Amino acid sequence: MASGNLTIDLRALVANYLALAAMTAGETAAVVKADGYGLGAALVAQTLAKAGARRFFVATAEEGATLRQALGNTPEINVFSGHMAGDTALIRDAYLVPMLNSPAQVHRHQEALPGHPFGVQLDSGMHRLGVQPADWPALRDAARNATLLMSHLACADEPDHPQNAAQLAAFHALTADSQSPKSLAATGGTLLGRPYHFDLIRPGIGLYGGLPFAQAQPVVRLSLPVIQIRTAVPGAKVGYAASYTAPGPRQIATLSSGYADGLIRAMSSRATLWHGDTPCPLVGRVSMDLLTVDVTDCAEPPEVLDILGPHQTVDQLAEAAGTIGYEILTSLGPRYRRELIQ
Ligand SMILES: *Cc1c(COP(=O)(O)O)cnc(C)c1O
Repeated sequence: MASGNLTIDLRALVANYLALAAMTAGETAAVVKADGYGLGAALVAQTLAKAGARRFFVATAEEGATLRQALGNTPEINVFSGHMAGDTALIRDAYLVPMLNSPAQVHRHQEALPGHPFGVQLDSGMHRLGVQPADWPALRDAARNATLLMSHLACADEPDHPQNAAQLAAFHALTADSQSPKSLAATGGTLLGRPYHFDLIRPGIGLYGGLPFAQAQPVVRLSLPVIQIRTAVPGAKVGYAASYTAPGPRQIATLSSGYADGLIRAMSSRATLWHGDTPCPLVGRVSMDLLTVDVTDCAEPPEVLDILGPHQTVDQLAEAAGTIGYEILTSLGPRYRRELIQ
């Protein structure tokens, strides 16, 4: 028995890609780092390539090399971390396009792989990754053949945040003289509107049904099997640390999934599962491989409960756990049986 059934709706994935693509006049790439936000990079990228995506982004050269095997030679695969020491063979053999992040990376790339395509990531104010503005004038000439000049917004999920306009202005100033195609927007930036789109948008989370793309169709459903149901008498204490006390006679179901499957321990006593339309509160601590859920309100003893599904999105579950949808998705573990809707 698997820890649960993870259903991935590829039609919803494609619908989300097309809905984001319809917002922009330029190209729409797909970000599939972290194994396609936990859903499987090869599966996601192959599906989106059929739907028209021609360019993909991953975090590391290793991810890029694996993706190249799944995608064949045609799509362009860009690597956010750039050209790290030791990456040269992967970049060359898998024909990856590194987004160079520093003078050292620009020099490394041009010495190791002269003529091999590259992009440049510029730091427009997030202060995380990318060529810093002070270093850019000296690199501009060496970077004039960049296939892409890109930057990343820190606050795009908050449309009114003043840093959005500040980074937009900084990106314009850094790239004004360049002929290379440009990209600033991930999902959040796409929703900020056309001035943020430039030649290419590169959404990730919105493809997978997550906020800030509120109109996204949900892509994942996660159903967990019940191993056992017991009656807890009033005062009975459930789970590690005896942190939950049954206030009356309760039916407690034990489910086969836990924090080792990405249902993080911070959900303890806070998340809700669903049996059809009936909400069933998670009670007590999340264990490594087990959850305990109060199913007293169910009309019949449940065999499975949904933790992601029609009544609870990735973001709603994340909210209960004090995190973001990105973390819930990328934590979903390998023990689930994966089913595809296509
Ligand atoms: C992860 C990432 C994206 C995609 O961001 P989403 O918020 O998931 O759309 C785009 N660009 C860069 C540089 C990233 O690191």
